[in-house]
Amino acid sequence: MTKYILGIDSGTTSVRSFVIDEAASVIGFGQAEITQIYPRPGWIEHDPKQILSMQLEVMRAALRDANVQPADISAAGITNQRETSVVWDKSTGEPIYNAIVWSSRQTVPVIEQWVEKGIGELIEERTGLIPDAYYSASKIRWILDHVAGAQERAEKGELLAGTIDTWLMWNFTNGKSFVTDVSNGSRTMMMNLQTLDWDDELLGHYNIPRQMLAQIMPSDAHFGDLEPTFGAPIPLGSDLGDQQAGLFGQAAFEQGQCKMTYGTAGVLNINCGQQPQRIAGLTPSVGWTVQGKTAYEIEGVLFAQGKTMQWLRDDLQLIHAAPDSEWYAGQVKSTDGVYLVPAFTGLSAPTWDPYARAAIIGISNATTRLHIIRAAVESMVYQTRDMVEAATADGTIKIPELRVDGGAVKNNLLCQMQADILGIPVIRPKNHEATIFGVMLLAGLSTGIYSSLDELQDMWAVERVFEPQLSRDEADGLYSGWLAARELTKGWTKKLPQH
Ligand code: ADP
Repeated sequence: MTKYILGIDSGTTSVRSFVIDEAASVIGFGQAEITQIYPRPGWIEHDPKQILSMQLEVMRAALRDANVQPADISAAGITNQRETSVVWDKSTGEPIYNAIVWSSRQTVPVIEQWVEKGIGELIEERTGLIPDAYYSASKIRWILDHVAGAQERAEKGELLAGTIDTWLMWNFTNGKSFVTDVSNGSRTMMMNLQTLDWDDELLGHYNIPRQMLAQIMPSDAHFGDLEPTFGAPIPLGSDLGDQQAGLFGQAAFEQGQCKMTYGTAGVLNINCGQQPQRIAGLTPSVGWTVQGKTAYEIEGVLFAQGKTMQWLRDDLQLIHAAPDSEWYAGQVKSTDGVYLVPAFTGLSAPTWDPYARAAIIGISNATTRLHIIRAAVESMVYQTRDMVEAATADGTIKIPELRVDGGAVKNNLLCQMQADILGIPVIRPKNHEATIFGVMLLAGLSTGIYSSLDELQDMWAVERVFEPQLSRDEADGLYSGWLAARELTKGWTKKLPQH
């Protein structure tokens, strides 16, 4: 009898669900947008109950689309937007505040207080993370501070807190499973990177009672059963944060294997083996614990990758749609020395300069919009090299090839240029849905549908390999121009008169 796997993907803008058969063919799909709540500039929240109801709706839609009954599903896996945090009442299940989303900046003052208190270094030493509002800890602290009586109730054991995976699994199992996995845990700024458990000393500094927090499990654990939701004992067999799920879905099981996602933002994740690596400008996290082995990763986030195309389209109106960029960029052989540095909100990994602003430099009388569009495509490539350079600088990590995914990788010119500038093959897989496939395949592995990581590796298939064609001299020459341009954007807002 065919075995089916249900995938649950709770993203930042939408919730989705897939049903696949054991050959990994998609047979059912559901998707819905979730509401973005902006209470004030820079604040972003979600309604946890909407996430839950929409997620259930799209899971049911995927089952209907696949024309299978819950009883036909052998395993389910979950992946989620990371860091976003919810606090809820243990007895009623009611959230006491909205979910505070990863990108929200409302908890910056909490971080400032912690750094002033002198625990910044301790945080970095224990969690690998540079203190930031991005991670869960300050979000939970903020909710406990801003909802009347919350701290007292948390101390009495009346409140629970967690990331979106925890919230969903608690609800799907009718409160039986209060769990998360090591990859999600590593993004909370509360988990010790060595022990893979909550760090009591940090929790003490944050004044977050440990009893509010879920049990941290390996990523291929048995997280519970969907019985209360579907009336069928579907085991939840995997849980991974979205970027780690993407790395797993790209079958990057060995040290040095990596994936680069070219979405609105860009994310590079590198499997760095069984020990955490510390590399300036990049973030160490846990990739996963699978079959008893923990794979650490390092990652780097680029604020503007596909975002630059949106800017060309919506604001400059140089293109009608992002995919047009490939045709326009291909009309000129080079940018003739023009560089676009997309530091719209500052420079992100690995340079980190919040004062930088974007620039287009090198414009002459001969510059046309084709050069600007090409420079925009090339900026995606150079920024990726910046992160690869940082990751490989001390020689510990070697990157033999780059596996790519995300909306922009349909752009062949982008992929070819990436191979040229890095000097390594760029590999585009057949399956563009690495994230949700990552957790579906892992759920299949943990429940015995698949027998080994090798079997999963064999299921990952290449669509196209882009081999480097440019000489290293030419590539390095182009890249050195980028480095000079990037340097010019640094500290820009500090150079302006302050009002
Ligand atoms: P996300 O999930 O981050 O919203 P996607 O992975 O769907 O993003 O990718 C969409 C992004 O990729 C958009 O920012 C868009 O501008 C860009 N994009 C889409 N197609 C292309 C293309 N052919 N060339 C360059 N950029 C593209």
